[in-house]
Amino acid sequence: MPFEPGFIPGIQATERAWWFLFRENEVLIDARGGGSTIPRRTDFAGLPPQLIAPQSLGRLNGEPAFAAAITNGARMPAGMQFRSVRSLFGDLTDEVHQAAGYAFQILDWHRRHHFCSRCGAPLQDKPDERARQCRRCDLIVYPRINPCIIVAVVKGEELLLVRRSGIAAGRYSVIAGYVEAGETLEDCLRREVLEEAGIRVGRIAYFGSQPWPYSSSLMVAFTAEYAAGEVRPDGREIGDAGWFRAQCLPPVPGWGSIAGRLIDWFVRQASEQAGGP
Ligand SMILES: [Zn+2]
Repeated sequence: MPFEPGFIPGIQATERAWWFLFRENEVLIDARGGGSTIPRRTDFAGLPPQLIAPQSLGRLNGEPAFAAAITNGARMPAGMQFRSVRSLFGDLTDEVHQAAGYAFQILDWHRRHHFCSRCGAPLQDKPDERARQCRRCDLIVYPRINPCIIVAVVKGEELLLVRRSGIAAGRYSVIAGYVEAGETLEDCLRREVLEEAGIRVGRIAYFGSQPWPYSSSLMVAFTAEYAAGEVRPDGREIGDAGWFRAQCLPPVPGWGSIAGRLIDWFVRQASEQAGGP
């Protein structure tokens, strides 16, 4: 297992430990070798950055991994640069990119939880698990994960794609939406497709899942068969919606997101049905 996320109490940094260092929302990248990678502890010899709230992340390729924020003015070795984690899709290996997303999510959660939401007293790290605990009333706060459905709705040889309002013209994706309190994943899926595109779906099948750390989400992906309705974008969240054949897709998300994988699944299936390669 290349990246094993988790909280390991008392783990110490080795010489080869990975450090995911963030300034605001950007992570420090070592670009000295021409490519992009995450620096190791030894890369900071003689120039230790000032770390804020270091967090253990688990193990990455067998070595301990840590995340921390650094102060805005901290000097970094020449050849290192800050980049947004999302912009590093394809530049980092998959397991290092996954760890970078996890680091982003944990630090973002940590800096949003300084005080107890019940009594207002300061929170502190719990030593035995990934959680913050109130010093006064013992309230425990875990990193929150927001479940979100994402679905490829198929009607014969066509796929339902939508363009969200405010997204650059021409860029489409499959329907996605957050699960509301009291809903099953299936309830959420049927509601979102009906609300956003005016379509009712029939049979649903599970496809896969992907953590999406930028919004602390867990994307739970499905495929669904069209049942009834005419496409009618809601005009609020969704600027446009329509049915697209595999040979005539508009610009869509790439392979790095599960949206891209759903669309790739549709294209492969269409190709197989057409007797292609
Ligand atoms: Zn409290």
